[in-house]
Amino acid sequence: TYIVTDNCIACKYTDCVEVCPVDCFYEGENMLVIHPDECIDCGVCEPECPAEAIKPDTESGLDEWLELNRKFSNSW
Ligand code: SF4
Repeated sequence: TYIVTDNCIACKYTDCVEVCPVDCFYEGENMLVIHPDECIDCGVCEPECPAEAIKPDTESGLDEWLELNRKFSNSW
């Protein structure tokens, strides 16, 4: 899965939402999040993010962000 990280906070762009083929972006408290179980790992959103906030969960040190993406995407 891909996850949204801190650079998204207070970002006003929604380019990622528009390109996602499965609509798995959700609104978090002050940022967007990706639903980890709905994301099909296509990678299309990553280069679209002007804030470079979207990262693959294979990158190290992102466990807390993964949990936060899961938490906020499940609150809908
Ligand atoms: Fe959507 Fe693909 Fe990005 Fe996952 S990697 S959030 S499916 S655009």
